[in-house]
Amino acid sequence: MIRDTLDRPLRNLRLSVTDRCNLRCQYCMPEEEYVWLPREDVLSFEEMAELVEAFADLGVDKVRLTGGEPLLRRDLDGLVRLLADNPRLRDLALTTNGVLLADQGGALRAAGLHRVTVSLDTLRADRFRLLTRRDTHPRVLEGIASVGRSGWPGLKIDTVVMRGVNDDELADLVEYAGSVGAEVRFIEYMDVGGATRWTMDQVISRTEMLERLAARYGAVEPVVEESSAPADRFRLSDGTIFGIISSTTAPFCASCDRSRLTADGQWLLCLYATAGIDLRRSLRDGSSKEEIAALIRSAWQGRRDRGAEERLAVKDRQPLIQITELRARPHLEMHTRGG
Ligand code: SAM
Repeated sequence: MIRDTLDRPLRNLRLSVTDRCNLRCQYCMPEEEYVWLPREDVLSFEEMAELVEAFADLGVDKVRLTGGEPLLRRDLDGLVRLLADNPRLRDLALTTNGVLLADQGGALRAAGLHRVTVSLDTLRADRFRLLTRRDTHPRVLEGIASVGRSGWPGLKIDTVVMRGVNDDELADLVEYAGSVGAEVRFIEYMDVGGATRWTMDQVISRTEMLERLAARYGAVEPVVEESSAPADRFRLSDGTIFGIISSTTAPFCASCDRSRLTADGQWLLCLYATAGIDLRRSLRDGSSKEEIAALIRSAWQGRRDRGAEERLAVKDRQPLIQITELRARPHLEMHTRGG
């Protein structure tokens, strides 16, 4: 196991398989058109599997496929099959907006995907349309239901909570998640790339979420557990568990073992990093697996990133990046780095 300068292990890789998305969520992709990664730069499944193997050799045992919308990448089950062959990957997960999940879930599970997280911000079709600028709410609900029906364990629902947008749905989402055999995790709205309309007053903090849920359900107890997961988990008096990811008001940089690989092979050591390490170039230059592993090892050992904590210290916080800069440097986008 290799560790960075703050003693954080390299264990967790988020692998973005495409920068394309079939939604246009206001907090992530508020524009209609984007500067996309050149097709020839996007890694093949074999290239992705080769890089993942180098990471796994160094101790990564959790991989999450993300995007963009990962289910837009054709034949994604082929990649899952390649990765599932690696016995060192204890946890192989997918984060999706769910639109294509009912069609693809069966093949992904058969290919060896362990579990799925679906992003769903509202139970109301009209809100979904306003928030995502697409009309596919019923397909997302059908995707979630299909996972529940098939008895696939580990289903999670991730909800970005925004004041005046969906903050009146916390209890509805807790109950909906229970009804489909899922655990909901509420995410604080973050000021990262893509969130060009972010303001602090739209953020519902973890404290406020807990107060609201306690007002509705009574005592909310923290679940005590050893975990590097981004979500703190809580229990309601009826036993229902939910999570909160408080990256904006109570960051978890101290235990962050996550890094991100973009679809074109740029390796980012922090969600807030402004530059990555070009693993595509090494791969396509013909570097050996050992040479790539050495590059990864030395970068991780020098890692000192604490992006979310540094943002917390900023007075008068504004969106991290403006649209002109995002157009010039699409790797700064949330949909490129995988969220
Ligand atoms: N398309 C997939 C999905 O919807 O889950 C994967 C990519 S998406 C970028 C990953 C996650 O990032 C989603 O749960 C999304 O809601 C979240 N996200 C995007 N922008 C965010 C922001 N500004 N603050 C908090 N979460 C954000």
